[in-house]
Amino acid sequence: MIALERVRKVYPGGVTALDDVSLEIEAGALVAIVGPSGSGKSTLLHLVGALDLPTSGVVNIDGRDVAALSDAGLSRLRATTIGFIFQQFHLAPGLSALDNVADGLLYAGVARAERRRRAVLALERVGLGHRLEHRPHQLSGGERQRVAIARAVLGDPPLLLADEPTGNLDSAAGEGVMALLRALHAAGTTVVVITHDRDIAASLPRRIAVRDGRLA
Ligand code: ADP
Ligand code: MG
Repeated sequence: MIALERVRKVYPGGVTALDDVSLEIEAGALVAIVGPSGSGKSTLLHLVGALDLPTSGVVNIDGRDVAALSDAGLSRLRATTIGFIFQQFHLAPGLSALDNVADGLLYAGVARAERRRRAVLALERVGLGHRLEHRPHQLSGGERQRVAIARAVLGDPPLLLADEPTGNLDSAAGEGVMALLRALHAAGTTVVVITHDRDIAASLPRRIAVRDGRLA
């Protein structure tokens, strides 16, 4: 599903965030990315999510070299193959849970009624069928993250990436989010999750450790 070959990422300004990173993640895997703050974890996940391009080296996602794709090709890859979840949820504050999720399909060419129908199903799947009209500020942190997960998986992407999805949650809410990620993995989704939580990392089948921009 994911193959990185000698990947290097230098940000404008000169910070080398990743250096000589090669790795493979097979379809159906459930992987933790661990490492100290500033070690390059988010940079790595952004490259894997085609949100950014490497300075050098090759990033291959689902058989496609991201550097070789056009802008339209990159957008298509993101829309059809990858779901992304952030620590800060990134929900639109003025929109209901339902609209936040339904908007995940805005660029997939799905009609509004169908978007909303699928969004209801996705919210029911994450246990929020009773919170459709709530706006983000009316939801708990755990509920907000479940809305974000519903939005990320709306198009059934084979690859789900999560950057410290439990970082802003208490342990009970974090458990709920991890249970959802495990269920998606059990249903066949490849899941890659950055975590600071030792217990969560230890409980996943594979860990990738990053330190100073290199695999440890
Ligand atoms: P982590 O997620 O492990 O905390 P990051 O991947 O966010 O680490 O950052 C790795 C390094 O790259 C850090 O030194 C950080 O300051 C730097 N960095 C991250 N994003 C940017 C950016 N957009 N521009 C410049 N430097 C960045
Ligand atoms: Mg980070």
